[in-house]
Amino acid sequence: SSVKFSDVAGHTELKKDLMQIIDFLKNPKIYKKAGAKLPKGILLYGPPGTGKTLLAKAIAGEASVNFRAVSGSDFDEKFVGVGAGRIRELFKWARKNSPCILFIDEIDALGGKRGGNISADRQTINALLSEMDGFTAGNGVLVVAATNRLQDLDPALTRPGRFDNRFAVPLPSTSKERREIIDIYTKDKNFDESVDLDVFAKEMVGASPAVIEAVINEAAILSAADGSCIITKAMLDEAYFKQLMEGHSKKDAERQQDEIKLTAYHEAGHALLGFLFGDEITKVSIVPSTSGAGGVTMFNQKKMGLYSKQELEQQVMTLYAGRLAEEVLVGPDNVTTGASNDIERASELLYDMVVSYGMGKEDALISYSVIQAGKSV
Ligand code: ADP
Repeated sequence: SSVKFSDVAGHTELKKDLMQIIDFLKNPKIYKKAGAKLPKGILLYGPPGTGKTLLAKAIAGEASVNFRAVSGSDFDEKFVGVGAGRIRELFKWARKNSPCILFIDEIDALGGKRGGNISADRQTINALLSEMDGFTAGNGVLVVAATNRLQDLDPALTRPGRFDNRFAVPLPSTSKERREIIDIYTKDKNFDESVDLDVFAKEMVGASPAVIEAVINEAAILSAADGSCIITKAMLDEAYFKQLMEGHSKKDAERQQDEIKLTAYHEAGHALLGFLFGDEITKVSIVPSTSGAGGVTMFNQKKMGLYSKQELEQQVMTLYAGRLAEEVLVGPDNVTTGASNDIERASELLYDMVVSYGMGKEDALISYSVIQAGKSV
């Protein structure tokens, strides 16, 4: 792996912790002398696109050791013994090529919770655990696993002596961190004066590094297609739109006048309520997307982290405001399917408020998902 820590933006504290592990890999003798054991497995968890794979490669790159990546779903086998056999093969390779890093992405796919063949999964996990138990300190095989779904992980995997070093790999939480990512991916690109990268960093609140990278790359493609190779603010906006709406904008789509008007009302409903709640609106568009969405209202997310009950209620109201604005224009019987995504997101929020956040009507601070899971309270 030629990836280095300097290629990974943010995660400063995490990189410090990992440096220690790299030192372990590079100088096993001194640690052995000190009686310290090399961790056998480390687990990186966090949302998709935050750099878990990149970090695993960077550990290998920094330590100058071999690197091999597999995915948990590669072992997802119908037949008992096949997945386990693959695990044993993998570790055979690892022992031959040590020192090395074995990277297992989506390790949650190895768990039995996904409803595959339970006994086949069990055997696969057992094979992995017994291979890991078989390591001795200093044999130079480090297993790095990644998951977006920590809660779905088989508990056997996180017991002491297995993946007991767990590290969160979160989304960038400040504009400064996003700016670092932007700097990595804009190094070799040209921008005209309409682009302010600090503003762009602000607009990308909530976006993962992978999304930021994809938006910048898409903008670069647009600038090449246009022959200028200079990225403008309009190109960045277009690229962001494409990511957000999962499709291109359909500027030349034929639409009825009344549909355009209805979309305008719908988006204005979101924008107006957001505005009244003090949100910063970065873009309102009634340009439809090839993925089927009629328009979009983009807000600058004020913050990440803790939200108050009132703030969540305001988000729900802002989501419903599109449908309500339609109702104002055409009456309750003529509202459209345009609000389906809003209703879905509002329902998710409301569900979480009641089930997880203790914000329902009753005062009991109860997590209903714990009760549903049959855990004793
Ligand atoms: P994950 O494994 O967490 O889903 P990846 O490591 O595969 O994410 O990252 C996806 C893409 O985003 C890669 O192209 C990677 O280079 C980029 N990326 C993700 N996180 C970072 C980061 N912290 N710094 C720089 N690039 C990143």
